[in-house]
Amino acid sequence: MGRLAYVNGRYVPHAQAMVHVEDRGYQFADGVYEVVPVIDGVLVDEEPHLDRLGYSLGELKIAWPVTRPVLRLILRELVAKNGLQRGLVYFQVTRGVAPRDHKFPATAKSALVITTKRMPAPSEAVLRDGVPVSSQPDLRWPRRDIKSISLLPNILAKQAAFEAKAFEAWLVDAAGVVSEGSSTNAWIVKDGAVITAPRTHDILGGITRLSLLDLARNTGIKLVERSFTLAEALAADEAFLTSSSAFVLPVTSIDGKKIGTGKPGSVTQQLRAIYLDNVTRQIKAAS
Ligand code: PMP
Repeated sequence: MGRLAYVNGRYVPHAQAMVHVEDRGYQFADGVYEVVPVIDGVLVDEEPHLDRLGYSLGELKIAWPVTRPVLRLILRELVAKNGLQRGLVYFQVTRGVAPRDHKFPATAKSALVITTKRMPAPSEAVLRDGVPVSSQPDLRWPRRDIKSISLLPNILAKQAAFEAKAFEAWLVDAAGVVSEGSSTNAWIVKDGAVITAPRTHDILGGITRLSLLDLARNTGIKLVERSFTLAEALAADEAFLTSSSAFVLPVTSIDGKKIGTGKPGSVTQQLRAIYLDNVTRQIKAAS
């Protein structure tokens, strides 16, 4: 049997998974989403992802499409049905289907779509060499803390980075401050201190970022939650990015300029190892 998707109460073949043309997600990007990594068939950091879903829904006054325990069950069911061992589960909730009108519909029911995708571990080459990033203007709205499906500025930045042969775009505001990546959080290491933007409305509070900060707190590594500029990033000893799909990935150049030695730094590698240990612990605990 081929891959299945979950669409509003039904498991359907992925190729035939469809929503109504008047789904408000389709017409207005009126919805939110989550992406949870799956390793050895286990959803990693599932609870904080569900917490963030609840936060995003609450901020936009969208009702949960099903209860949280039911959503947990459906996620597991889809991962199991698709035999997903390593990859991502994507779920999105929109305000539902209603005649097109900007105001919230009085009666629409929240719509839920879930898909899964296989994803291999990062290649040896990527881990050995790190990845290049490209700085791009941050064109987004002032509520980046909400994981909205409205991603046009992120898409444009990622495409521009891709065209510049970079793996990711680091988004920079008019003052030269790096907020985050187009789909990742941004970090630098300077004089032994690990620096990442604070969790405000200006960034998406990444779950990988949150977990890594928690894990690193017990290691004696100095952690500083403050904004940094592109100039600081270029002068940093190390840089890296975090996300549910990349975990902790070394960044070794920005706009073609080497960061530090131009190789993944030791603090970055230590943090990646700490994060992977935590994933392994979660898998053991679940089995
Ligand atoms: N920032 C943005 C803009 C993102 O889209 C993502 C990925 N969803 C992240 C950061 C990283 O978040 P997480 O660690 O939860 O994947």
